[in-house]
Amino acid sequence: MLEISGLRKAYGPVEAIRDVSVSLTDGELVCLVGPSGCGKTTLLKCAAGLLSPTGGTVTLGGEPVTTPPADLAVVFQEYGRSLFPWLTVRRNVELPLREKKVARGERARLVDEALTAVGLADRGDAYPWQLSGGMQQRVAIARAVAYQPTVLLMDEPFAAVDAQTRADLEDLIRSIWQKFGVTILFVTHDIDEAVYLGERVIVLSGSPTVVQETFTVDLPPERDQLTTRSDPRFTELRSHVYAQIQAAKQRVPAP
Ligand code: ADP
Ligand code: MG
Repeated sequence: MLEISGLRKAYGPVEAIRDVSVSLTDGELVCLVGPSGCGKTTLLKCAAGLLSPTGGTVTLGGEPVTTPPADLAVVFQEYGRSLFPWLTVRRNVELPLREKKVARGERARLVDEALTAVGLADRGDAYPWQLSGGMQQRVAIARAVAYQPTVLLMDEPFAAVDAQTRADLEDLIRSIWQKFGVTILFVTHDIDEAVYLGERVIVLSGSPTVVQETFTVDLPPERDQLTTRSDPRFTELRSHVYAQIQAAKQRVPAP
């Protein structure tokens, strides 16, 4: 579905990504975890066709990605800036569907379904600034879901919300993934979050970034904030990722 191959990205003299290959099959939920500044946003922007890589390729469904593909949606960390304050929640969610020229009846159905999925069915007429940060991020998620992308890219979407809201939003992502079967690449610097959410986790090294390790999260598909997080296997995987990231930091970068 999404194939990132031998990706390299330098900002002038700054080498951000040295060599990253990531491959997502249809309907996969993969978490990409790495330390702050390791190039996660850079990688996601390259995958979304928002930034051209210095080397390597990105393909979506076999097609090279050079500009943002129509069947891909991105949710960024700065939800506040991604919503239009002068449009209601409903209009915000509907906007990309209008641009996609989806017929009015179908638009209404998709918006309703997405707002219900994120628990905001009764807030459609509110304006983003009337909602809490966590609710605004749910609007951004609803907008991405209503768009019915084949691939959803998420860049640390919960970094700016409180811990309780974050836990709710994590469960929301899992339920949306199960309900809509969308392929998700979820980027985070949070080790627990990566293990809790992912079916597979890709650990990135510090910058200049390479893939440190990829592993399957062999936890039951029905995850729960209490039982999953206290599962000995969860603790084991989390410690494993932590050790990997520490090891990656020790790695002496090639000159
Ligand atoms: P992350 O999202 O993992 O925190 P980024 O992708 O934002 O990392 O950044 C990776 C590296 O690239 C960092 O060293 C950062 O300073 C650098 N970088 C990011 N964007 C730019 C830019 N527009 N110009 C120059 N350097 C940049
Ligand atoms: Mg980032």
